Amino acid sequence: MTERKTKPATHRTGNDSGRSQSPPAAANPLRQIPSVEETLNRPAIRALAAKVGRKFVADRVRQVLAALRDQIQRADIPSGELDAHINLSVGAAVERELAFSLRPVINATGVILHTNLGRAPLARESLDHLIEIATQYSNLEFDIAGGRRGERDVHVSRHLQDLLGAPGIAVNNNAAAVLITLNTLAEGGEVVVSRGELIEIGGSFRIPDIMRKSGAVLREVGTTNRTRISDYEAAINENTKLLLRVHPSNFRIVGFTERPTLEEMVALSKKTGIPVYEDLGSGCLVPSRLLGSLDEAPVADSLSAGVNVVSFSGDKLLGGPQAGLIAGKKDLVARIRRNPLFRVLRADKMTYAVLETTLQTYRQEQFERIPAWRMIQMTTAEIEGRALRLMEACALPEGGPMRLELVNGESVIGGGSAPGQTIPTRLIALRHRKSSASAITGRLLAQNPPVVARAESDRVLVDLRTVLPEQDPLVVEAIRALSRKDRN
Ligand SMILES: *Cc1c(COP(=O)(O)O)cnc(C)c1O
Repeated sequence: MTERKTKPATHRTGNDSGRSQSPPAAANPLRQIPSVEETLNRPAIRALAAKVGRKFVADRVRQVLAALRDQIQRADIPSGELDAHINLSVGAAVERELAFSLRPVINATGVILHTNLGRAPLARESLDHLIEIATQYSNLEFDIAGGRRGERDVHVSRHLQDLLGAPGIAVNNNAAAVLITLNTLAEGGEVVVSRGELIEIGGSFRIPDIMRKSGAVLREVGTTNRTRISDYEAAINENTKLLLRVHPSNFRIVGFTERPTLEEMVALSKKTGIPVYEDLGSGCLVPSRLLGSLDEAPVADSLSAGVNVVSFSGDKLLGGPQAGLIAGKKDLVARIRRNPLFRVLRADKMTYAVLETTLQTYRQEQFERIPAWRMIQMTTAEIEGRALRLMEACALPEGGPMRLELVNGESVIGGGSAPGQTIPTRLIALRHRKSSASAITGRLLAQNPPVVARAESDRVLVDLRTVLPEQDPLVVEAIRALSRKDRN
């Protein structure tokens, strides 16, 4: 058989022993181990193989029998019936191997756009269009009216035109957008950028590195905390191709600072004929009136101020799928679109499907349908109400080792949006008499689904702002599991 050929070593003991011709089994306990073939022919294992694949189950059987052999050689004979032991072990191994690596977690950190936790969660309804497009053929690059080849851009460009009053295109993420924009508009030339904007976003996205890869030369001006428009002007020479402005994501310089206004940069651009490109990072498409105290400039403001090109992420404040959106003056966007890098950095049909749904939601001004915006807008009263109900549902025993308490705290937007700004929230603080806060966060992570919470000195903080309301019962379950373990 194939197993015999490919892995003879695994087989020798089992196959050669043949349980049917057994008698002296007791003499050598290894002889009790069935062969891979024999095991695969058992009804329970056969049923499993029919469900998940024979080769997949055969591999698990081989592992289980090898482990069993080792165990027996260590004279550690499994208690109970060997056949039942093998069936159970194979079943468990199949389950373990089939468990997805990428799986849901509960975000109780209060960081709304948490890059490590997948940034913006999507609305379930935005997936209807995704499923429809992903599971069938589509007009991704086909012009139905003309019956000929089309361009994938059209599926988002009409929405961007409507929302921003400027044409736009999509690539894989905003890092890609920065690369292709710099490469198109400034390869072989200089890009003037303020020293205060030479940022690193994390995940090794650093403006100077991307600049080098784009083939453009960085021309830093000003100082870390103060850069004036005259600094940009003084740096311009015949090699200057672009003025770059970068959203200072992830950090904020406070105190004695100065940065030219967009208007000043646009005026300098008009005077010199050198375009301005603004990397906005987050990309806020809600009208400023809805931003409340959040200090995040809407994308449309940059374009209406006269910035030639902007780019921003799809999965930060926009609350959509991972993507990079580029919008601006028609001729410049068309040049970026013609860059061969567009083919390298293009987004796939699933991204277009979700982007289209997300952008349409913005056109309908139904921002509350975007989960990230719902979280941003959630009031402390709402969060407090949920927290109190959740604490009650936990029904922890009076005088037990674990105590829950409602405290004031702060949520953050994350993803480099509105750096340094926080949204007031109510937190559930968990204290345990016998376990440290980091031990408790570890045990919350061991739950299924894992609950990601923040340890702070002697307590663990749970922020329900970032927990989807339908997940509240799962948080109750996780907390109750901790207290149950205490009693045993
Ligand atoms: C987040 C960010 C990027 C990178 O965007 P991704 O979509 O994560 O690739 C680039 N520039 C700025 C200013 C950012 O905040």
